[in-house]
Formats: sequence, C-alpha cells, structure tokens
Amino acid sequence: MFRVICHLDMDAFYASVEQRDNPALIGKPVIVGAPPTQRGVVCAASYEARQFGVRSAMASITAKRLCPEGCFVRPRMDAYREESRRIMQIIAGTGAIVEQMSVDEAYLDVSSISQAEDADASLRLAVPLARELKARIKSERRLTATIGIAANKLLAKIASDHQKPDGLTLIPEKEKVQFLRPLPVRALYGVGKVTEKVLLDAGLAMVGDLQDYPNDLRALVGSFAGQLKSFAMGEDDRPLELGDEIKSISGEETFLKDTDDRKVLRACLKEQAADIELRLKHRRLGAHTVQVKVRYGDFTTLTRQFTVEEPLTEAGDIYRLACWLLGRERLVSRPLRLLGLGVSSLREPAGRQLVLL
Ligand SMILES: [Mg+2]
Repeated sequence: MFRVICHLDMDAFYASVEQRDNPALIGKPVIVGAPPTQRGVVCAASYEARQFGVRSAMASITAKRLCPEGCFVRPRMDAYREESRRIMQIIAGTGAIVEQMSVDEAYLDVSSISQAEDADASLRLAVPLARELKARIKSERRLTATIGIAANKLLAKIASDHQKPDGLTLIPEKEKVQFLRPLPVRALYGVGKVTEKVLLDAGLAMVGDLQDYPNDLRALVGSFAGQLKSFAMGEDDRPLELGDEIKSISGEETFLKDTDDRKVLRACLKEQAADIELRLKHRRLGAHTVQVKVRYGDFTTLTRQFTVEEPLTEAGDIYRLACWLLGRERLVSRPLRLLGLGVSSLREPAGRQLVLL
C-alpha cells in the first residue's frame, strides 16, 4: 500500500477566530495577548501583524513598538478550544486516521481511502479530499486551513508550510529530492537551533548541501546522522502516533509573578484539565493517574500523584483530584512560580472499545 499523509494547519488560528467573531478586526493587525500596559506576552498574531515582525511569545510592549496600530485582543482560550473541537470533528468525518498535534494542527493518514496504481497517483487522489476538507472548514467554520499532501509526515508538514494561508501543496515522490534542495536545513524535523548552528558552521545551510555531503554526518550530529540523511532525502517512516502509543498528557504554566492566590491557581488547573480532557477524548482514552507539579521561586520542584481505579475522562474529575492533591500535600505553602497538571497510565475507558481503522 502507498502511504498518503496530509498535514492540516489552520491559518493564524487564534487571530483568525478573533477576526471572524469581530468583523471590525478583519484586515487589521490583530495581536492576541495581554495589552502592552500589563507586561503581557503575545499569544498569537494575525498575518497583518506578522508583517510588522510581531511574533508569539514576544513581550506585548515590543509588539506595540513594532506595530503601533496593532489591535490588542485578550486571548479566549475556551473559544479556541471549542473551535478546535469542531474542526477536529470535521477532520474525523473524512474517515482518515488522525494524529492531532495541537489545537490547530493534525496529520491525517488517508492511505486506505486514496490508493491508485503508483505512489504519485495515490497522492493525487488525495487532492479532491483535501479540497473538500478545506471547503467544509471554510463554509462551516468560516476559517481557512492549509493542507500539505505527501508520502510521509516530514514532507506533508513541509508541504503545508510551503504556501500559506489557504494553501494546498502536494509533493510528489518523484520530485521530493528536488523540492527539498533549496530549503534551509532548519526546515527538517529534528533540526533545532543547536543542530542548525553545527550544520551552518560546517557550511551546510541548505537541505541540498546535506543531500550532497560526501562525509559521515556522524562527526557533526552524532546518532542523529542516519535519520538526518534520510530526512534530507525526503524519507521518513515515522508512523502516526495514535492513542495506544502515548504515555502521558500534560500541561504547565509559568506565572508572570509568583503566586499563591487560590483563585488564580484553580483557574489555571481548570484550564489545564479541560485541555487534557479534550486530548483524552480525541484519543478515546481515560487516565488512571493524575499528577500535579509545582515549582517555587527558588526553583525547587515537587510532583505528587494519585492513581484511581477507574480511568478518568472528565475535566471536572481531573481538576478536583488536582485541587485535592495540592491541599493534601500542602503544596501551596509558599507562592508558586509554575503549576503543572498531567495524566498518565492511559487506558481505553471501561465498557468502550478502541476503534481501529
Ligand atoms: Mg496554525
């Protein structure tokens, strides 16, 4: 069977939801994040704001300096999560095997519904499917998505990054080596800042340089060498990660200012629990173990966990257990710098069978 993988990525997701819900923001540089007066951080930026150099995780005050006309909008995480849930439902409707990567990004394995006489014909069969998916998201959610189609995860992601927003790019197997040549090495999965610097220092700036490199890459990148070379040639056999393969799900938040305010901490746990519930539901899993993690101002870090017999699937249960753990273990004896919540020992919930496509 020929592999056919799509990578779907919503375009400027948070900012697009804001522009959709408030038409006055359409066409304006929207900056989702705390206002610059409150030493906040940018959560997301619309394409208009990105043109001014505004990026997520940037201090709001810097964003304001780069883009004085920017419209600051407070993030509405609940709305984005709800939107994400609806989009993932539309994606599930395609019959694909789905690995959700984040609120606005997923891999779809459509191999079983997109088979033809050879690899490239199979990829082309996925084009109408991708077009229909984009059209449904546009008509039902009034948002745009970009989709990349290729024979593996590495290339599908590179394809969706290739042309945004509202793009659809297919990388044929026959052209993948050429397609990758002019891209910076950073485009390859697994090449972060550190590896990039090593490669640049060795004169390897483009993927093509890696393809042509006659020497052993192990001298530069150690045990990553074999995989890096495969990636540079457009080969990648990583499977989609489905529910039965993940071991834990967690989130954490670092506070702008250390806090022991119970209301703030509870709100934080509540949000994390809701996120965990969504990710558990998506993978049709329940969790036996709930873990909280706290870090104090001096960076001392403690974790405490509790395991239950019946797998948990509801945010309310996970949240209650987390609050209870914080209290029982007296973890908030002094202000927290960071608070995290996670679940592990993942199982399919009792009485329900995991449906394998
Ligand atoms: Mg996105």
